[in-house]
Amino acid sequence: MERFDKLGMLVIPNPRSRTPRPRATTLIATRLYCQHGHDLVSSRAVFDGHPGILIAARDQRDHPGLVALSPVFGDKRRISLDLDLVPGERATLSCPSCGAALPVHSPCECGADLVALFLTASGDFAECIGICDRVDCVHARITTSSELIARAAAFPRS
Ligand SMILES: [Zn+2]
Ligand SMILES: [Zn+2]
Repeated sequence: MERFDKLGMLVIPNPRSRTPRPRATTLIATRLYCQHGHDLVSSRAVFDGHPGILIAARDQRDHPGLVALSPVFGDKRRISLDLDLVPGERATLSCPSCGAALPVHSPCECGADLVALFLTASGDFAECIGICDRVDCVHARITTSSELIARAAAFPRS
């Protein structure tokens, strides 16, 4: 059983969940955009068969590189290319296509910022995912009008 939400989020029952929570699901982003509508999901980095989220990053010493994030909500895996990300430092995250810095969604509880990755090409803050710009901070937030996504995100895999 697989379901695609209209916003391109794939919601599947979590086969690896050991806790018998009846509504445990895995939420996978299949389409994410910068504020100018460029697709951030790329098959250049694949996680468990799912194309990853590719973002341009600049560390605190202004070294540029690319970061690939797992599209699975709650999955902490990350690949950095041409860049050694230092845990605890903040990175400037931007669109690899147009170079625009991803806009701030809201403050993260770690003190850094959650930056927005949009679920629609129109850059609507009502439909976005916020990810923290601090290296190894795993906080993320989903803002969406979709019941399906909101429900799945409330039960990230453990
Ligand atoms: Zn862009
Ligand atoms: Zn954070």
